[in-house]
Amino acid sequence: MTALRTLETLHFDNTFARLPEVFYAKVTPTPLKNPFLVSFNLDVAALIDLDPEEAKRPEFAGCFGGQYLLPGSEPLATVYAGHQFGAYVSRLGDGRAILLGEVRNSRGEKWDLHLKGAGLTPFSRDDDGRAVLRSCIREYLCSEAMHGLGIPTTRALCVVGSEEAVLREQVESGAMLLRLAPSHVRFGHFEFFYWRRQLDHIKTLADYVLAQHFPELVGLQDAYVRLYHDVAFRTARLIAKWQAVGFAHGVMNSDNMSVLGMTLDYGPFGFLDDYNPAFICNHSDHHGRYTFQNQPDIGYFNLRCLAQALTPLVPDEAIKAGLDAYEAVFAEHSAELMRTKLGLRESRPEDDVLIRDLLELMRGSCADYTNVFRSLCDFKQAPEARSEAQRDYFVDQEAFDAWAARYKERLRREGSRDEERAARMKQVNPKYVLRNYLAHTAIRLVTEQKDFSEIDRLRRLLRDPFADQPEMDRYAAPPPDWGKRLIVSCSS
Ligand code: AMP
Ligand code: MG
Repeated sequence: MTALRTLETLHFDNTFARLPEVFYAKVTPTPLKNPFLVSFNLDVAALIDLDPEEAKRPEFAGCFGGQYLLPGSEPLATVYAGHQFGAYVSRLGDGRAILLGEVRNSRGEKWDLHLKGAGLTPFSRDDDGRAVLRSCIREYLCSEAMHGLGIPTTRALCVVGSEEAVLREQVESGAMLLRLAPSHVRFGHFEFFYWRRQLDHIKTLADYVLAQHFPELVGLQDAYVRLYHDVAFRTARLIAKWQAVGFAHGVMNSDNMSVLGMTLDYGPFGFLDDYNPAFICNHSDHHGRYTFQNQPDIGYFNLRCLAQALTPLVPDEAIKAGLDAYEAVFAEHSAELMRTKLGLRESRPEDDVLIRDLLELMRGSCADYTNVFRSLCDFKQAPEARSEAQRDYFVDQEAFDAWAARYKERLRREGSRDEERAARMKQVNPKYVLRNYLAHTAIRLVTEQKDFSEIDRLRRLLRDPFADQPEMDRYAAPPPDWGKRLIVSCSS
């Protein structure tokens, strides 16, 4: 049995704070006015051995609302740069998030405690250092939903609301989100030092990342090459997973890319409802740089930005090899994921076209991405079966019938059995995803009625998105008309 810890006895081990001070500025959170707990996540408390009873203490909200510092915490804001919408910005940094410190759990795992919305830091530029309740709830729910989908992501322990007014397009209330990740090092951390020609610091940071997160590479002659290749590999697999579940990140700037290949910085993200490869979830993305279908190419672009920053450590040929590997790993993993979504165990040359044609039919019919794949789990192979449930999603039903005949033939050729395949497919085709309108409903209940229950309901639902939860069926519905027109932007 793990000894549970209190807020006062968390086991801090602040490795980032041991780096030279050029990497960060020491700064403490600015408390929110009258903080209160909006939601608390037991699953994430377990990651740092925190006793869940602690959330009941009156001090809890104050603690993660910036009022008190935890004993052992060494808060700091890190400095980074990054390519935002393709253009280099030489100094960004944690402008509204503060790394409270790193907690090591009883299993030896280390977790950054990162408090988002914690107030001004030296990197806030002209902004206010705050995050609004709406965006904290979105990040809280989505990071847990992504975890439920089996996609690498930062996690979220709690959301703390407040009575502090924060101005965005309109006045909203300020909040804080306590985010956990093994590391918050971004591609942009390396870029910052490269473009300032502070090459020693690139090496220091690379050595730090190796020691903390890739200990098996430490001491190898080609450690930096392998580090770069590993980042490329993880990024390729991450983005393949995003594409397979229909997740659009919305702001894939290189400062939002994790060197550990995890989903980081949830802003104007969105899951596909209708299948539309040109989907732009971010209202601020006027030129559609971050459309759903561009994500794999943007991953490549960002890896090139990282590569540039690593040129003092990684030879050109190795960079080229890493980028080539990114493309190959993405293509392979993506094909594998799409095959498993169709319940295909074997890989055959004709599969790519079969998948492409299905997606094209879905696009032409504005068919719901999640629901079509979920419905295909119950596809029947019998020659007389007419797949009524599935064909209902398509405008051109005859075209779907023709595709279904090819799919049947393909399944027959690998001896697929309906029941066994359905069970397998339901492990990879979620029934529930965090559709925008679902998050929006939960947020409205909080902001208009102080009703926090929907957040917990959604969080519990989405931690197991593959299980049929019949009493929750309404959460699998595509958006109602109002839910299709919701706008999310960088303003959060
Ligand atoms: P994001 O778009 O949230 O990834 O943020 C990009 C950069 O802007 C990061 O350096 C953030 O820290 C900073 N930033 C975003 N919003 C704020 C804010 N309200 N106050 C201060 N800095 C911010
Ligand atoms: Mg960011």
